Amino acid sequence: MSGPALHQSYAEALPDLSVPWRAEAPPDPAVAWLNEDLARELGHDPAWLRGAEGMALLTGQIEGTTAQAYAGHQFGSANPQLGDGRAVLLGDLVDTRGRRRDLHLKGAGRTPFARGGDGRAPLGPMLREAVIGEWLHACGVPTTRALAVLTTGEPIAPRQGTAPEPGALLVRVAASHLRVGTVQYAAWHLGPEVTGELVEHAITRHHPSADGPLGLLEAVARSQAELVAQWMLLGFVHGVMNTDNMALSGEGIDYGPCAVLDEHRRGAVFSSIDRGGRYAYGNQPGIALWNLSRFAEALLPVVDARTPDDAVSQATAVLEGYEGWYRDAYALRLGRALGVDAAPEEVLALGEEVFALLERLRRDHTRSLRSLGAGDAAVLAEDPALAARWRASGGGAGGREIVTPVYVPRNIALEESLRAAHRGDLAPVHEMLDAVRSPFTVREGLEHLEGPGEGTEGFTTFCGT
Ligand code: AMP
Ligand code: MG
Repeated sequence: MSGPALHQSYAEALPDLSVPWRAEAPPDPAVAWLNEDLARELGHDPAWLRGAEGMALLTGQIEGTTAQAYAGHQFGSANPQLGDGRAVLLGDLVDTRGRRRDLHLKGAGRTPFARGGDGRAPLGPMLREAVIGEWLHACGVPTTRALAVLTTGEPIAPRQGTAPEPGALLVRVAASHLRVGTVQYAAWHLGPEVTGELVEHAITRHHPSADGPLGLLEAVARSQAELVAQWMLLGFVHGVMNTDNMALSGEGIDYGPCAVLDEHRRGAVFSSIDRGGRYAYGNQPGIALWNLSRFAEALLPVVDARTPDDAVSQATAVLEGYEGWYRDAYALRLGRALGVDAAPEEVLALGEEVFALLERLRRDHTRSLRSLGAGDAAVLAEDPALAARWRASGGGAGGREIVTPVYVPRNIALEESLRAAHRGDLAPVHEMLDAVRSPFTVREGLEHLEGPGEGTEGFTTFCGT
């Protein structure tokens, strides 16, 4: 073993919340993409990772790995038994900056939590998760990231379309894999003692200044408010904001049917399974609060209160802060995106009008914000009063940092790159990764990724997380 030591901090601290489990050995593993920068940040030599010992690590052929238990609300309904159905936690390490990070392997074969699933992961969705994570990270958004995507050498049953898909593995790096659904699992199956231990573990690992369960609730609510505010300005649609896909660390996690807005549309839904539009672009801030309310419910038995009613009112009081935390986080970033400098109330009101106009004119979300941020009001030309209001708030004054990226993983371009990967040509997805990993720097040859995107109402993503 070279590089940082791998620990099993989670399994040791909370043995009831995972089971020892080993990934299936893939027949002919090959690296499709290795995140060399992230490897070095972790303390691993990329060349070592590509060698025999490194490949054993990346394919989970090591001692001590586990599958984690969790529950969750999926599309609003409680599911008491979820868990890593096709993934294992490889362990955790302390990176070169002193941060503890989890290594996790998705596509590792069926586990005791697999239910009806085959335990497999197709190449396209694993590359999609890598692209999205790299892009969000490069835009400064807290996120899990891919250390590597590998092909297994085994074709897997097609889920959509006709051709059998290449099987893949995603090696994921995360601050942790503690989810709202992990706390729900503890509360629903294991009782207050384990739930209390889990709360302590989460506090120590992610929110060390939080005081008890209500402190943790507040810290998670604040971090989710920040996270979703950033998603909204980037036009990011997570697509499956179930409580098992909400991390206590505040990182975004599990990018399955996610997409990025081309035209600005509040009601934009891309996921084939989100028929009711529950996880539409414009619903995300409210859904985060809904999930936090389920989190609060799971915490109630460990809230130190004289009566259950008392616990409910204390938790409710904490959650009443969410709207303000969200508004503050959003207004700050919205002001920067619009290139203005005004009081939050004015920025929010201006933003509402700008977005209504963009939606009416079917304008590209990213390009419109980028040009406004750069001081160009052409996109507001249809509404001179609005353009004047933008100017009165400091729009066009110049000298401001542009916070909207040039390159976003455009739906159609990303889809095409994944289809090429499916056929064995990795060049387009490598190009996409190059573009989105430095999303603010305009480069020659990448014009086709600058948009405006063509993927609008008809574009659909499939789950496969
Ligand atoms: P998500 O797509 O992240 O909402 O996953 C929901 C649940 O389904 C998780 O418990 C996953 O582990 C599980 N799951 C998804 N795909 C598979 C699969 N192919 N085999 C086994 N479990 C799966
Ligand atoms: Mg998930």
